[in-house]
Amino acid sequence: MATPITIARGDGIGPEIMDATLKILDASGAQLEYHEIQIGEQVYLKGISSGIEDSAWDLLRKTKVFLKAPITTPQGGGYKSLNVTTRKTLGLFANVRPCRSYHPFIDTRFPTMDLVIVRENEEDLYAGIEHRQTNEVYQCLKLISRPGTEKIIRYAFDYAVANGRKKVTCFSKDNIMKMTDGLFHKIFDDIGAEYPGIEKEHWIIDIGSAKLADSPEVFDVIVTENLYGDIISDIAAQVAGSVGIAGSSNIGVHAAMFEAIHGSAPRRAGQNLANPSGLLQGAILMLQHIGQGEAAARVENAWLKTIEDGYHTYDIYQDGTSKAKVGTKEFAAEVVARMGEKPKKFKEATYNPNAKPVQPYTYKRAAPQKKQLLGVDVFLEWPGEDVNELAAKVQAVANTATFELKMISNRGTKVWPEGQPETFKTDHWRCRFKAPDFKSEVPHAAVAEVLSKLASSGLDFIKCENLYLFDGEPGFTRSQGE
Ligand code: NAD
Repeated sequence: MATPITIARGDGIGPEIMDATLKILDASGAQLEYHEIQIGEQVYLKGISSGIEDSAWDLLRKTKVFLKAPITTPQGGGYKSLNVTTRKTLGLFANVRPCRSYHPFIDTRFPTMDLVIVRENEEDLYAGIEHRQTNEVYQCLKLISRPGTEKIIRYAFDYAVANGRKKVTCFSKDNIMKMTDGLFHKIFDDIGAEYPGIEKEHWIIDIGSAKLADSPEVFDVIVTENLYGDIISDIAAQVAGSVGIAGSSNIGVHAAMFEAIHGSAPRRAGQNLANPSGLLQGAILMLQHIGQGEAAARVENAWLKTIEDGYHTYDIYQDGTSKAKVGTKEFAAEVVARMGEKPKKFKEATYNPNAKPVQPYTYKRAAPQKKQLLGVDVFLEWPGEDVNELAAKVQAVANTATFELKMISNRGTKVWPEGQPETFKTDHWRCRFKAPDFKSEVPHAAVAEVLSKLASSGLDFIKCENLYLFDGEPGFTRSQGE
């Protein structure tokens, strides 16, 4: 029985590398039935800002498997990234990117590197919630959720177990973002404790990335948030040899998408130059996912043999090591010619044909914690310089029977009371109001009263954030210097 899959040829080098990949898949004996959709430039140019037609979603929903070539996102405002839209619309929460070296046939300084990055795909700064709040300040919201984090951390550990990996490393920046990244790290520790057979470690993202660029062979599986994962997976692919040879899967509960990690390389398009290996690696991940492990191994072994026999596209060609510089079509033909062969220098790929894909974990909502309102942070646009003047104004108009102004910060640094004269100030001020009796809960109407008094006094409030305790623990951070 052939498995129905949706394919899209994309833009730039996309159609060429898709043709090459399909030729190889057809020769492998993989049982696939292709359904094609249009995505990318031609759809954007029709005025559809998402880059995908509504009718395509039905097919994706039906086949549940999507092999996608890269697309070109037009420059300029208004166009949404199709990749982000597809991942979020189909709930593809895990981006899995294996990065290994193919030394000595593909040039790399790290001959033993072999790692997998599991990147959270749906939230973090990629929620895309951005606002211009004042003349001088723009904001992008970073959202980290418990369900999102539990799903990705559990997926990383389950992936490690299913693939015989020994260690899972978490990258975060919880020394600075104590609540968002702090949650990510804590859930990693909590869930990690359920996997005694797997070694666990945590790195702060900055030094972790430096280590990844310098000694990638010390990592095995890395799990991290969306933005960090986006950055480090390109670093990892590049130090492994080339962004042109890595594929990735995007896994969700209802569907999965497989692709190359690189873009549409428009300058190389239409010249029979591009390396189809990244998309082919995506297709190998797809075959494993749909239970066609034998075909996956046949394709990978033929590809490994082609690489070790020295048939290389321009991006990985090296004088002395390579035998021939070949184009996209010729490369595909060399892989097809080796179908059924095993590599001699590389380790042979084998995949258990009965292996089931890692099952995404179904989040179970815990009983809610006791939530008490204590106060509110009101953000103001104010073009003045003297914070004492602002504090006096705010106190005069907005202190109520319930709330008092306790602190003002500017870009997170306390400037009142007792600020430091050197602190630079923008037109974006946070005024923290709290009930003087910190223990008693405050009704929401008290927040509305402060906002209403500020508005009628002509002070421009631009947003507010309520201050809560959850089971007695503050659900907010102190400002720097508070
Ligand atoms: P890119 O990955 O397309 O290309 C960067 C360079 O890498 C190219 O100039 C080329 O020299 C090389 N390269 C990439 N893939 C190659 C291959 N298969 N074979 C040989 N060489 C290859 O990145 P870019 O130039 O920053 O982006 C071009 C377009 O692709 C942009 O519109 C961008 O938005 C889009 N993009 C799409 C995806 C996707 O669809 N998944 C991902 C990234 C970028």
